[in-house]
Amino acid sequence: AVDELLPSLAGKEVWVRARVATSRKQGKMLCFLQLRQSMHTAQAVVFSKESDIVAWAAALPRESVVDVLGELSVPKEPIASCSQSGIELQVRKLFCVSRSMPELPLQLEDAARPDAELEANPDLPRVNQDVRLNHRVIDLRTPCNQAIFRLQSGVCQLFRGFLRSQGFTEIHTPKLVGTASEGGADGFRVEYFGGNAYMAQSPQLYKQMALMADLERVFEVGPVFRAENSLTHRHMTEFTGLDLEMTFKEHYSEVLDILDRTFNAVFDGLNQQFKTELDTVREQHPFEDLRYTCPCLRFTYPEAMALLRKEGPALVRKMMEGVTDATELARLKEREASVASHGDLVDIGTEDEKLLGEIVARTHKQDFYIIDKFPADVRPFYTMPDPIDPTLSNSYDIFIRGEEVTSGAQRIHDPQMLLDQAAAKDPPVDLSPIMAYVDSFKYGAFPHGGGGIGLERVVMLFCGLPNIRKTSLFPRDPKRLSP
Ligand code: ATP
Repeated sequence: AVDELLPSLAGKEVWVRARVATSRKQGKMLCFLQLRQSMHTAQAVVFSKESDIVAWAAALPRESVVDVLGELSVPKEPIASCSQSGIELQVRKLFCVSRSMPELPLQLEDAARPDAELEANPDLPRVNQDVRLNHRVIDLRTPCNQAIFRLQSGVCQLFRGFLRSQGFTEIHTPKLVGTASEGGADGFRVEYFGGNAYMAQSPQLYKQMALMADLERVFEVGPVFRAENSLTHRHMTEFTGLDLEMTFKEHYSEVLDILDRTFNAVFDGLNQQFKTELDTVREQHPFEDLRYTCPCLRFTYPEAMALLRKEGPALVRKMMEGVTDATELARLKEREASVASHGDLVDIGTEDEKLLGEIVARTHKQDFYIIDKFPADVRPFYTMPDPIDPTLSNSYDIFIRGEEVTSGAQRIHDPQMLLDQAAAKDPPVDLSPIMAYVDSFKYGAFPHGGGGIGLERVVMLFCGLPNIRKTSLFPRDPKRLSP
């Protein structure tokens, strides 16, 4: 493999299968090929007195797949343009395994250009998001994208590994379900033998039922479908959920501790085992290391709102500096006032969530935190109310860089309480289509809780990327079902 080509191998002959990233002919007898394999590149030198061999090599279209037999040698000067800068291949044999079409829908060089270069030179060609996604297979070949999907796989491996070490069992819940009313989001309806079925909006009810079936601690890595017709930087209509649910003995904080330690295991694992991938992402899109601790920073919802009221207005005033547009200025003035008076029990919008993230980053120097004790009114019917203050609930969200990556809670395990809570919601929730769920708590039930993590959001926010489509292999949103 190209990443194994190191100066210590000088003198050895090796076979490499890779793509031709670029070719550059110099005179009649010399041609330099840049070979690329995933995140790594190396230089191959074709030298021959037979000029048609050199011409053939130089004419290989970019992205063609070649087999190269080469002798490794140390170049006089390090090759700055290649990841394997301390070694090159003197080509002995060269075969074209598969020839690319000469016209590419986008140039890899343009798609891989670092943010800083684009900023410094506005005239450089840019590849916009739609072009990238329309030709995703080509776009995915950039080193940064190669790194992103290795990191995504890493998050899943680390999530699985940590939870298995804590006695969790991996489960697979149905994605075709009979009802759209799991609370909250809208579901996609599909035809089902003359009737209707829905695509699961979360494994919520089934992972709880698995606990009532004595599985004790469960997790799932699987698709989640949301029929939300909104185009934002962090929502898709299909994403990958990393879900967990567990019984606890004394207090639901046991669940929070597991979630906290799970994230810490994932972050530590990424930093320790995926350094090359993180550096590769940084080369194109620089980002600051995520600041986190174990146990992580925790606030109650009212504490977080107090912090927003105290520190938020000054930050909004800062945003006003230099703004001349009257409408925008008026909007920010309004925002300053609303932030200054944000109620302890009032739901927090995306914009204020981000502002709070900035405040926490400034005041606590942390980018990862939990907000516990959300107002009962803003959570689904199955959420356990706080036993002391019923306006609050035993529920939490987890944030990375000011954006939500996880929602979770202690769930109600008393069937009568579940019915009462559903009836008390405004509007009331009709549980008749999901009586099997309610009934699962009737034959002896364990106190339990859990949470759902969005995989693509974790990767996006860990790497400080601006859009969730960058961390989804083939993203789905209201405007995109293909490729
Ligand atoms: P948001 O408030 O951001 O819309 P949510 O409250 O609907 O999220 P949950 O239903 O609690 O989110 O889902 C749990 C997690 O799944 C979220 O914290 C997030 O990481 C992820 N998630 C939710 N909706 C989406 C989506 N449409 N696209 C990608 N990830 C999502």
